[in-house]
Amino acid sequence: MKKLLIFVFTVFIFLNGPFSLNAQNKTTWPTGKKMALSLTFDDGRASQVNGGTALLDKYGVKATLYVMPNAIEKNVAMWKKAAENGHEIGNHSSLHPCSGNFAWSRNKALEEYTLEKMQKELVESNEQLHQMIGIKPESFAYPCGQKFVGNDAKTQSYVPLVYQLFSSGRGWRDEAPNDPAYLNRAQLTGVEMDGKNFDEILPMIKDASEKGFWLVLAGHEMGQEGNQTTRLTMLEDLMRYAQDPQHGIWIAPIREVTKYLKH
Ligand SMILES: [Zn+2]
Repeated sequence: MKKLLIFVFTVFIFLNGPFSLNAQNKTTWPTGKKMALSLTFDDGRASQVNGGTALLDKYGVKATLYVMPNAIEKNVAMWKKAAENGHEIGNHSSLHPCSGNFAWSRNKALEEYTLEKMQKELVESNEQLHQMIGIKPESFAYPCGQKFVGNDAKTQSYVPLVYQLFSSGRGWRDEAPNDPAYLNRAQLTGVEMDGKNFDEILPMIKDASEKGFWLVLAGHEMGQEGNQTTRLTMLEDLMRYAQDPQHGIWIAPIREVTKYLKH
C-alpha cells in the first residue's frame, strides 16, 4: 500500500511539477509576456533614420532595419548612429532582386539567378555592411518576400541558403504571426503595416497574444502619408499599447527574439 502511494505521488509530481509535459508545447516568453512583437522596416529608406528611429527611441523601442548597402551609403553616419542606439541592421541583399514580372526587376530577375550568384551577393553585402556600419548582419529579409531563384523546372528555393548565412529570414505580405514552437527561422512571416491605422493592427496583436505567438510587422517609409509608408501616428499608438504591462507584449528586434527562441 505504502509503495503504491509513493508511486501515485511520484506520477502526480511528474505530471504536474516543474517538469510537467505541456500538452500544447507552448513557448514561454520572458516573464510576464504573452507574445513577442517585432517592428521591421525595409530598403534602407532615408525616412527611417530621418525621424523614424528617433520616434521609436522616445519610447525605448528598437526595430530591425533591413538595408541594401547602396541605399544607405549617402548617409552612413545616421545608420551607424541608429545601430549604436540599439536598432538592428539586417541584410536585404545588394541589388534587391525580385521576379522579372516586375518591370523594374527585369534586369535583375530572380528567374535568372542561381544559388551561387545569390550566395555571392549575400556574402558580399554582409561584408559591405560590416565595413560601413561595423556590424555583422544576423537577420535577412527576402526582397519582395520572394524566396526562389531560377525558372521553370530549374526553380530552387534559397531558403536553405538564408538558413545557413543568417539566424533568420523574413517574408513580406504574409497573413499570420509566427508560432514559436513550430516556425522555420529562415521563413519568418512578415505582416504589412504600411498605410494602416492602429485599429487595423490591433486585432492582429490580440490574435497573437491569445495564441502566444510572435507577430512581425513590416514596413518601408516612416512618415505620415504616402506610398509604402508606415504611419508615425500608428506607431505611437502601437508603442503606447505595447508598453502597457497589462498587455504583456515583448517588443524586440528580430535578432533578440530569434536568439531567445534558439535557447
Ligand atoms: Zn524591399
